[in-house]
Amino acid sequence: MDKTKDPNISAMCTLAVGEAGRTGDWRSFRPVIDHGKCIPSQKGRSACFLCWLYCPEGVVRAEIPITIDMEYCKGCGICAEECPAKAITMVKEEGHE
Ligand code: SF4
Ligand code: SF4
Repeated sequence: MDKTKDPNISAMCTLAVGEAGRTGDWRSFRPVIDHGKCIPSQKGRSACFLCWLYCPEGVVRAEIPITIDMEYCKGCGICAEECPAKAITMVKEEGHE
């Protein structure tokens, strides 16, 4: 039996990149990471990853250095808000002046 699935739960969804469609063409702000401030990059080990935890689109990859799939990032800025090291800055996309 697959122990990762609860048979008592009939409607179970799993996160998949891009289920809501690509967002990269309408995003007005984009997150820019300063890896010089980012804790995992600084420490050289898995740590923090709050941006990965809080991103509602699941597009932050918890790796070193962290990366963001800009095809699907909607530019909400939650990652920047939650980052304790202020390593993420939201900048305006070109064409959204
Ligand atoms: S801006 Fe929003 S969607 Fe994009 S990586 Fe940050 S939290 Fe995720
Ligand atoms: S929340 Fe900030 S410090 Fe933590 S992994 Fe993300 S970018 Fe790096």
